[in-house]
This record gives sequence, structure tokens and C-alpha cells, in this order.
Amino acid sequence: MTRTPEFLLWSISRKCPLRTYRNWDDPQRTERHLRAARAFAEAMVEGRVLGDLCFDNAVDPWSVAQEDEPRAFRIEASLAHLGGSIQVLSTCDECPARTLAAGSKKIAASCYGWWILPDDPSPIHQTIERAATAAKALDPNDAWPMPTSPCWYGVWQQGVFTGDHLPALTAMLEQQRFPSETAQASATHLAAAARVAFLERLPLVVTLYPPGHVENRLWTLDPHCPRCQAPSRHDPERCGVCGYIGPITPTTTFKARGSRPWRPLSQVALPEERAKVRELLAALEEDPEGNSDEESKE
Ligand SMILES: [Zn+2]
Ligand SMILES: [Zn+2]
Repeated sequence: MTRTPEFLLWSISRKCPLRTYRNWDDPQRTERHLRAARAFAEAMVEGRVLGDLCFDNAVDPWSVAQEDEPRAFRIEASLAHLGGSIQVLSTCDECPARTLAAGSKKIAASCYGWWILPDDPSPIHQTIERAATAAKALDPNDAWPMPTSPCWYGVWQQGVFTGDHLPALTAMLEQQRFPSETAQASATHLAAAARVAFLERLPLVVTLYPPGHVENRLWTLDPHCPRCQAPSRHDPERCGVCGYIGPITPTTTFKARGSRPWRPLSQVALPEERAKVRELLAALEEDPEGNSDEESKE
């Protein structure tokens, strides 16, 4: 059994030819459907592509297991459900819902993102507490954030952000420094998404998932409040975070996320590809910007 942390998943609601699945505006469905496209798009801008192979050295932020070999996937097979790589790149080419860029180049399939909390989320809760208190002071009549303790849960309780709540969310996330690099990067990305959604007049859907565990390919969420999603450990009849009175949601089960499309390099690549990938990874590690050529010419 592997414990899973609390996390947020978010997506900008813009229907497009890649987002044709049922509940297309649900962040979890979006993440599952577009995950390979996003991994491919990021690998493209970072130079981690060899023929039909995407590769990286990164540790999967979703995985607790430490991989001891590079990961890879076959591009066209992994993107077949989306019509292939050309279809992905051309569909996303003009999309206003993209939230990531490398330099001036927008990254395909970046209309969604995540924020994975550490085992002890209290430093992040405290940062949000300070930021939300400041936000509340600016507009005391606004029902957002909902009154919860910690405030973190009340920020996400409404689920869908539109109109003035989008710049308010951006301002709140940019009001404080977050206690870790990962948290800061996740907050910055979500703040940027809220900015994009506001400019494009698109809704931003944010879903909070309580902690849980994965066992036998099933992902089970811990008992949690049906209103604010806070994990409920003490009183089965009343939520200590938002005050909700009523039965808590006992457990909810999904198919486990898995590491798809990524696989250990040795399982997807031919021996000669493996050697080349390791060479390329070593070069990228020495020069992550990939500009050693220009420098050596000077
Ligand atoms: Zn799009
Ligand atoms: Zn609650």
C-alpha cells in the first residue's frame, strides 16, 4: 500500500478537438487524457526527444518510488488517442488556454496543472491563511474564501473560478512567498492560469483531492468532508474544518493514476537508443539550456 498526498488538480475549461471526452471540463479527466500530450510538449521544448522516443531523468512528482533509470515513452503510440503528435501540436497551436511557455514559445496541452502537497501541508496552509486574510480584508463582503479553518479548504471549496474571483485568486497566490520551491512553482503556475482564464473569459476549475492510498491499482481517498474535502479523522458526523454537519464521505475509489505514458527506458527503447538517450541526458545535465554550441564558438 502506498500513501498518496493531498493535491489540487485544475484545468481551464476550453473545449477543443483534444478534449472530447465525457466530463471534458473535469480536471482529473483532463489530466488523464492530456498527460502524454503535455509530457511530449515539454520534452520537445527541452530537447528530450530522440526520433519517436521521449525521455527524461526526472523523478515523477506523482510517484513515491525512486526510479533508478531514465524514463521514456513512444510518442505516436502514446498520442494515438489524440490523433498523433501533429494533431496535438496543430490543435494547441493557437489555443488561448495554454498556461506554460518556454521563452516566447507556448507549451501545448498546458491548459491544466496540479499542486501536490507535502506530507505535512501546514506550512502551505499557513501561507494561504495569511494571504487569504489579506484578500478578505480587501473585500469583506465577498463569500470567497469560504470560512474554514484552515482557510486553505475554503479557498477551493467553490470549485469553479470565474469573473472577479480569477484576479482575486491570482492576487492571493502572489501575495506571499511559499515555503518550498515546489509549492512556490505550483502557486505561480496556478496564479498564471487564473490570469489566463480571466483574460480569455474562461472558467478555471480547481478540484481538491484529500490524501489516500493506492493498492492493487486502485486509488482510495481517505474519509473526507463532502463539502470542503478536508480529511476527516475525528468526528464522523461533523467537519472540524468547515462546520458541515452530516455524514462524511466514507471513501472514494478511482483507478490508480499509474505512471503512463512513462515506462522505464529499458522497456521501451532498443539497445542503441538506450545508449544514445543516456548520452543526450548527460549532455543536457551539463548544459540544461542546450546552448553549449553557441558558447564554444565565441
Ligand atoms: Zn487547448
Ligand atoms: Zn468540511
